[in-house]
Amino acid sequence: MKKIGIVYDDIFAEHHTQGWFSHPECKERVLHTIDVLKEHEMYGKDHAENYVPIMPRDATFEELNWCHEQALIEWVKDAVSKSSEKRLEHMDGDTPVSPQSLNAALQAAGGNFEAIDKIMEGKINRAFVLCRPPGHHANKGRSRGFCLFNNIILATHYLTRKKGIKKVAIFDFDVHAGNGSEDLIWRGIPEGEVLFISSHQDPRAFYPFECHADEIGDGAQKGKIVNITYAPGSGDQCINLALDEIVSPLFREFKPEFILISAGFDAHHTDPIGGLGFTDQSYGNMINKLSPIADEFASGRMAATLEGGYNIDSIARSISNVISTMSTGKLIEDEDEFQEKSDRVEYTENVLIPKIQGFIAPYWKSI
Ligand SMILES: [Zn+2]
Repeated sequence: MKKIGIVYDDIFAEHHTQGWFSHPECKERVLHTIDVLKEHEMYGKDHAENYVPIMPRDATFEELNWCHEQALIEWVKDAVSKSSEKRLEHMDGDTPVSPQSLNAALQAAGGNFEAIDKIMEGKINRAFVLCRPPGHHANKGRSRGFCLFNNIILATHYLTRKKGIKKVAIFDFDVHAGNGSEDLIWRGIPEGEVLFISSHQDPRAFYPFECHADEIGDGAQKGKIVNITYAPGSGDQCINLALDEIVSPLFREFKPEFILISAGFDAHHTDPIGGLGFTDQSYGNMINKLSPIADEFASGRMAATLEGGYNIDSIARSISNVISTMSTGKLIEDEDEFQEKSDRVEYTENVLIPKIQGFIAPYWKSI
């Protein structure tokens, strides 16, 4: 049984997004998840001893500068200062900010740093950062797609620059491609050696319309950016194929010293935005495939940070499964069902995976 830190503060519910229209990236995502975690005695006054509540800290502007231009930081500050609870400002068409958004974003990035500190100090083994706003669409100069600053790449850089970690493997299982993360890694912005695998709904007809299967990086990074572009309707069998044929072999060959997860839950079959067929169990099952790799190469070290996921009930159940499997390997929610069509599985097995393997095979012995 491993000790899992759960990084949360109510500031993450103070980033308000509801203007004239309702917005899927809402505070209830974290508030309801906390309620469900309390029901499972994973958080709150009755939490079991293998779950440790952790308060985030502020990231500094200097730390944000590792990944983001000063002009973007000033833009966010300015937009937040002009916003009011009645009149939100926007970084792009779907990325609103409100008076507490900058404070929430600094705590989201800093919450990831705090999780890393506690793991590296040996106080916990792993962590889940239950933060808003999310980060994986933000790049050097732009906040977009509900994201202000790129929490996971800031965390990557924190590990390699401040914590002596040389090799970080990142798995992004949000339904949307982690295009901001890919962009920052492609530019070599986080120090150290980074393997980045994003699995997502095929972006040829889905936001962010980037991170196609043939994008594998450049220069020293070539072959260490991998995009698994699921067909709509893909579910557990497709996930298992992708994990067994691509993610696990690459992670094993890479031998990461730390595993980071961009944990978005909008690939769930009930999600109002995504078009994939993941279940409550899918997320815990993916953790169970990565856990032995973390144990073998990274002293068990693993941290997940919240990205998307817009069905309030399924995100809470799925996160409970992620945190539980991180600690014990056991699912606590296991009755969710999705009927995956056989043609999706055949496409994944016979077309998609061989195609991706073809792109990256020159760079990996295990492929
Ligand atoms: Zn998403």
